[in-house]
Amino acid sequence: MSTTPPTEQRPLLILGAGVIGLTTAVRLLESPSSAGRKVHIIADHHSTDGLDARYASSIAGAHHLSFADDADKRQRRWDMRTFRVLYEEWRKEGEACGLMGLTQTEMWVGSSKHLQIYEEHPDFKVLEARDAPCKVDHMVSFTSLTVTPSLYLTGLEARVRSLGGIIHRAHVGSLHDLATLPFLSLYSILPAAVFVCVGLGASSLLGIADQSVYPTRGQVVRVRAPWIRSGYTRQVGSLAGGEGGQRTYVIPRCTGDVILGGTREERDWDPYPRLETAKDILCRALDICPELEPPHARAPALEAGEKTLEAAWAAEMGEKEEKVKALEEVVVEHLVGFRPSRVGGTRLERAEVRLAGEIVALIHNYGHGGAGWQSSWGCAEDAVAIWEGKNLPKL
Ligand SMILES: Cc1cc2nc3c(=O)[nH]c(=O)nc-3n(C[C@H](O)[C@H](O)[C@H](O)COP(=O)(O)OP(=O)(O)OC[C@H]3O[C@@H](n4cnc5c(N)ncnc54)[C@H](O)[C@@H]3O)c2cc1C
Repeated sequence: MSTTPPTEQRPLLILGAGVIGLTTAVRLLESPSSAGRKVHIIADHHSTDGLDARYASSIAGAHHLSFADDADKRQRRWDMRTFRVLYEEWRKEGEACGLMGLTQTEMWVGSSKHLQIYEEHPDFKVLEARDAPCKVDHMVSFTSLTVTPSLYLTGLEARVRSLGGIIHRAHVGSLHDLATLPFLSLYSILPAAVFVCVGLGASSLLGIADQSVYPTRGQVVRVRAPWIRSGYTRQVGSLAGGEGGQRTYVIPRCTGDVILGGTREERDWDPYPRLETAKDILCRALDICPELEPPHARAPALEAGEKTLEAAWAAEMGEKEEKVKALEEVVVEHLVGFRPSRVGGTRLERAEVRLAGEIVALIHNYGHGGAGWQSSWGCAEDAVAIWEGKNLPKL
């Protein structure tokens, strides 16, 4: 006979402490249906750890700039819901929480259309493409947000703790390990549900081993440029749901740092930055945002018309080369991260597993690719609704 207490008395477990695991934990702890239950998080990486390519949330840019195709109503709903939650937080708390509200300019080469979702943002405008700093075919602007991941993740962890959540550090090799003594000693009773928020970890975690999950390598450069307070992106070629074409971005953060990117290299596990890629990113970033050049390098000589020796030398080297050199002076670090991509997109659904003879619900919430920050709250709310057996909106 089973000695496990009834489901409603058993704890709930979240695997993963990236933006997906932490937002899911907050919504779960806030829900009246979790009253009286313990909520535990288990993860390898935590918000205060150093940056790690396998901890995508720590490396991300991160801006709210949806990739949702016009017909992808599910993604549009997650992204817009998340925008509203983050916008309200920024409005109430200001930049201390790691969010920055800003004007975002999005440019396209090879397309004269923008994604419809941008029209739902405040201050949406179609701009004249000829006014762009580089040759583009279409340009729009609207109000959006950027995140400083370290600040926001630390704030989320604090919220989880203040709501009574318990956070542990451990690596889970297999779902079956969760019913063994080392793990049972963390939560005493076998959990009623496991929320699987492990990002790229879903490809190797036994019991899931989802072979449709793969890394999309992204390399970025962090520069110190507090004079930049607006965001810019340029998409060349088809966006293909966020996975296609070449994308260049300038993402200012509330800390005065700016993230310049990027690359999308599917199934590339190289965690080290490549110098030639970094230089290409700086060149592309200057194309779409010439103001990145540090103010001192842009200042004209005092004597109009008179060229210093250095300026004459710079002219010889080529103006662009000189601008990249000036930008290199404010580089803080080069970073690489793996977006947790998945063929078919995010997996957000209920399943189950038998552990030590008991049925345990699995709520999958992983595989967000390059859109985990901007869809986090929307996905977290759906994950909790699925656990609670509520119907999601019919789309
Ligand atoms: C360069 C770059 C730029 C990006 N820019 C943006 C952007 O501008 N906007 C945006 O929305 N998104 C962006 N993203 C994507 C975004 O970062 C991810 O979609 C998001 O962080 C995924 O969050 P996650 O919590 O699912 O995964 P992660 O942040 O990777 O967290 C996974 C968690 O699971 C834990 N875990 C995994 N396996 C195990 C295991 N077996 N046992 C224990 N713990 C485990 C890890 O330790 C970690 O705590 C970017 C990503 C990159 C790399």
